[in-house]
Amino acid sequence: MTPLIDTHKRQIRYMRISITDRCNFRCRYCMPSGGIEWLPHEEIMRYEEYLRILKISIPRGVEKVRITGGEPLVRKGLAEFIEAVKGIDGLKELSLTTNGFLLPLHAADLKRAGLDRVNISLDTLDRDKFSYITRVNAFDQVMEGIMTALEYEFSPVKINVVAIRGFNDDEINAFAALTVNSPVEVRFIELMPMGCASRYADREIISSNEIMRIIEDRHGTMIPVEYTQGPARVFRIEGSRGKIGIIGAMSEHSFCSTCNRIRITAEGSLRPCLFCDDHIDLLTPMRQGISEAELEKLIEEGVMLKQRSHGMCIGQHIIPNQGCSALMNTIGG
Ligand code: SAM
Ligand code: SF4
Repeated sequence: MTPLIDTHKRQIRYMRISITDRCNFRCRYCMPSGGIEWLPHEEIMRYEEYLRILKISIPRGVEKVRITGGEPLVRKGLAEFIEAVKGIDGLKELSLTTNGFLLPLHAADLKRAGLDRVNISLDTLDRDKFSYITRVNAFDQVMEGIMTALEYEFSPVKINVVAIRGFNDDEINAFAALTVNSPVEVRFIELMPMGCASRYADREIISSNEIMRIIEDRHGTMIPVEYTQGPARVFRIEGSRGKIGIIGAMSEHSFCSTCNRIRITAEGSLRPCLFCDDHIDLLTPMRQGISEAELEKLIEEGVMLKQRSHGMCIGQHIIPNQGCSALMNTIGG
């Protein structure tokens, strides 16, 4: 096996694939209220096209794959796709990021197909605030989605919380407390001012250090439990069953030096970094009939575009069509 290694000697082991730009929610930091103009169906990657890319990348050392979107559960045929991905030799973990709404409906099929883990997004524990932030009245369904994920033992179930000052800063400790008696991992994510979120002011971003301070002021010093090669630092409140992840996507750049991930967007581009507009189109050449060897070369070229470090920091906003032009739901958060 010849590993996929970038120009900064980092080996690529993790691929995030966005399988749709469509979504049944309209989270204020991710999508405009009226939605976006969806990509025409023929411009979205077909499952067999993702499989072609994965069948090249997994033997080259990609061991973890995460399916995201848009909302991946709105795309038909997902369980069959998951089964096919799980059949590729060398894959160690297949996970899904979802808003949870359709999980009660699909969890059994996803489990049967071999899905290992799920991350469910939930930014508030308050029903009215939930309707405000997602613009959908679906709090109960998402809570049911989380319970269903626990029932089906997608282990561990992670809950993604985007921290926004003035919206859910008063709930950080309530979220942290969920980990005391439940085996969930609550992951606080710094708001990234890109796409629709670029209109948020700097003061609305809560840095990972501040999140940490808020939790430790209430729950005491947390115990570091895990080293990840991503932007997450993972802790445990003493005596708790679950864990707390804090993701300093904006404020921490040290993880860039070990970043091992690449992304495939819904329209078939390989993006080596969420914060950077560099990408390489794989879909057009695939549809023009390139061979597996040529596709492998393109994937290698895409990996080589990976920069040493992203230049984003708090205080810097990425406006749509400037810098990082694609929206989060298309790239896949
Ligand atoms: N629809 C699914 C969901 O919401 O989980 C998957 C796609 S969503 C783009 C993936 C993750 O990105 C979610 O946890 C969401 O909260 C997060 N996200 C979206 N826009 C963001 C932003 N501007 N800053 C930080 N996180 C963001
Ligand atoms: Fe949809 Fe996820 Fe974006 Fe919310 S964060 S609008 S659920 S894609």
